[in-house]
Amino acid sequence: MKLVLASQNKGKLKEMQKILADLGVEVVLQSELGINVDVEETGTTFAENSMLKAKAVMEASGLPAIADDSGLCVDWLNGAPGVYSARYGGLDSDEARYRLLLENLRGATNRAAHFHTDIVCCFPNGDVLQAEGDCFGTIAYAPAGEGGFGYDPIFFVPQLRKTFSQLTADEKNEISHRGVALRAFAVKLREYLKEN
Ligand code: IMP
Repeated sequence: MKLVLASQNKGKLKEMQKILADLGVEVVLQSELGINVDVEETGTTFAENSMLKAKAVMEASGLPAIADDSGLCVDWLNGAPGVYSARYGGLDSDEARYRLLLENLRGATNRAAHFHTDIVCCFPNGDVLQAEGDCFGTIAYAPAGEGGFGYDPIFFVPQLRKTFSQLTADEKNEISHRGVALRAFAVKLREYLKEN
């Protein structure tokens, strides 16, 4: 079965291919099929945004399409930046955004936070599969580590005593919101393919 990934991100494609390969599923980027849909993420939840993206690309391609939406939710900030993680404060660099977050946590007495991912797969017959994943941690007082992207330098995983930026890609995949959601999705897709 061919599954279209509603994204331009080659890193996400590789992660999905790795996890879905043994299901006999071929994942391709929408651009590989010449699909130029760039959906505005107007939803107020991760699930709404992934649904908007997956549905649009399924309709444009006529093939099952999968999309994910992720973000960082900070307890002290009532869940912000949440679905606005990529555009927090209207700032245009990862570093500016995580520095703003650190600033907004000055004096905070609770630094608990979690990353969330929601994955939606829309089939042309109207079926929908959905999966999600979380990774819980805290916001560090200062950035640490070189790897990763986004808020990785300030997301501290207490069990490992490291930030996401200080983990290897494989270590991060094992525990990350996206890894958890993808593996949960793979389980659901395997079941679905058995039944259909
Ligand atoms: P996306 O929905 O996967 O594109 O994620 C939206 C935004 O959330 C990204 O631009 C990052 O700011 C943030 N984000 C999502 N996942 C991660 C992660 O694993 N590490 C750091 N930041 C992330």
